[in-house]
Amino acid sequence: MANEILSVDELQVSYGVIKAVKGITLSVEEGSIVTIIGSNGAGKSTTLGAVSGLIRPSGGKVSFRGNNINRLGAARTAKLGISLVPEGRRIFSNLTVRENLLMGAYNRKDKEEIEGNFEAVFSLFPVLKERLKQSGGTLSGGEQQMLAIGRSLMANPDLIMMDEPSLGLAPIVVEEVFQAIQTLNSRGVTILLVEQNAAKALEISKYAYVLETGKITLQGSAKELLESEEVRKVYLGI
Ligand code: ATP
Repeated sequence: MANEILSVDELQVSYGVIKAVKGITLSVEEGSIVTIIGSNGAGKSTTLGAVSGLIRPSGGKVSFRGNNINRLGAARTAKLGISLVPEGRRIFSNLTVRENLLMGAYNRKDKEEIEGNFEAVFSLFPVLKERLKQSGGTLSGGEQQMLAIGRSLMANPDLIMMDEPSLGLAPIVVEEVFQAIQTLNSRGVTILLVEQNAAKALEISKYAYVLETGKITLQGSAKELLESEEVRKVYLGI
């Protein structure tokens, strides 16, 4: 691929004797939105964990802008420009919205830049500006998801990986989150998305992969997958 920001080559991840990811190869073009769909337990979160350095792969290679990042931990991949919005949001309930956001900028020092990041987050999610002093735990589910995405933006990432950002949200909030993902992408951020809401995810994606029990079983442009009989039957319920 000409303009590849992330490439995953024959990635394998095991938890003890359980092989969760069995040699997957995928590629993300800079500036694009790419989606991984798959049922529960397919290995989607594990894949994102391995790319972000939270989980150590047992085989294969992960490259970011052409550099092997297999052995870097999460702090160093964050510095390189990779950010993960984890499943279930994982915000800090007892910290304020402002403090939660600052956690995302923990490895940055430039005060002015951090202020600029706050503004970028507020322009995407104005509601967070109104809630700055409120504790994270008192936000609605949708606001917590916005906070989780906002926190990841505070690190100034080039690639954001989002694990099930629409999970458990009301339809109108799902719309808002998907809208925000597209806005972010139009600002130049590359997005790797993991979603159960395959219809919505494919609608905004350029390319997509189907992951089943640790293996890629299907891939293509989002348009191709939306038209695929298997995807329509299994993931879109049509
Ligand atoms: P979901 O949508 O349900 O989160 P997923 O596609 O993200 O599913 P993973 O969470 O990556 O799937 O899990 C892949 C496999 O690895 C599953 O069989 C799961 O039970 C197993 N697994 C995940 N985390 C661990 C762990 N910490 N220890 C042992 N097994 C694990």
